[in-house]
Amino acid sequence: VTGCWSTGEPAAAARIAGVDLVVPNAEKHLLAEKIRTAFGEGGEGDAAPDLPYLPVSVGSTRALVKVEDGCNMRCAFCIIPATRGRQQSRPLEAVVAEVRALAEAGFAEIVLTGVQISAWRDPAGRRLVDLVRAVLAECAVPRLRLTSIAPWDLDERLLALWDDRRLCRHLHLSLQSGATATLRRMRRPYTAASYGRLLERVRAAIPGVGITTDVIAGFPGESEGDFAASLAFVAAAHFAKVHAFPFSPREGTEAAGLPGQVSPEIKKERMARLLAAAAEGELAFHRSLLGSRATVLWERPRGGLGHGLTDNYLRVFSEAATGMAGRLSDAELVALAPGGVQGTPILSRI
Ligand code: SF4
Repeated sequence: VTGCWSTGEPAAAARIAGVDLVVPNAEKHLLAEKIRTAFGEGGEGDAAPDLPYLPVSVGSTRALVKVEDGCNMRCAFCIIPATRGRQQSRPLEAVVAEVRALAEAGFAEIVLTGVQISAWRDPAGRRLVDLVRAVLAECAVPRLRLTSIAPWDLDERLLALWDDRRLCRHLHLSLQSGATATLRRMRRPYTAASYGRLLERVRAAIPGVGITTDVIAGFPGESEGDFAASLAFVAAAHFAKVHAFPFSPREGTEAAGLPGQVSPEIKKERMARLLAAAAEGELAFHRSLLGSRATVLWERPRGGLGHGLTDNYLRVFSEAATGMAGRLSDAELVALAPGGVQGTPILSRI
């Protein structure tokens, strides 16, 4: 196993039944070598390429390309700086080469991932905007999706790149709380108001953009008033998706030792309200897209139902799309459906 938890708790990870090897995040790039050392050569064809980051494919439709790792921030609840170390960026040329190869291999969508891709930079002073521009200019990728952008680190020059329709109208801007008092205790360097202004700028620059986010309920010291403010923010923001979590103390983080820990009962009750507000906002986002057309990247069907994502992070379901995994097609968005909308593929446009 590898990842943040096992890096922070290697002994506990090693005790889990079935775990033979624990590889810390800092040594993940040596994964293939470590497996060979621990278990011997597995025969011809088992060698992984010697890449600093291994590309990950999701089904046959989408491939993830990691552009950076680590973090120099110190959010009070987060273990990542301790487990992944200081922020590091991959060279621009390596990212471009990998995206080009994956696009040539037939992936319809490439996702640039990292802890916070807005932190990407290189010794030549280039920033994420330069990386994305280079990928779009040099790779015949049908769709390019960006992942987590720090709300305090959105380079406004990036917003001009959405003239290129291959760039998905989707940004993940992690909110964590809609109450400024809680954000301060979390050591997040923005306020609820400045985040709200950021949403306005992004929505003005990228019409139809889907914004996804993360929100924690029951952070230490969160009063009922703080939580109500956070809830109201989430309800009004109409996020495309809210990843909601009850606060869970991670050993070694500042938040684990903060006074004012919220009881499990209150966290549970706040989570239920947060999930309800998130669902209402998501529904409003889905409803706003009904009657329009969108391009869907269809995935492997589930339970006899075809489904896929639009560029702006709307899940579309269709019985007529069961044989279309890995393909892009336009679809009419005709009705609300649980978790998204029902769509009708426009077959002539495939
Ligand atoms: S929450 Fe994000 S920005 Fe904050 S320390 Fe963790 S990885 Fe860094």
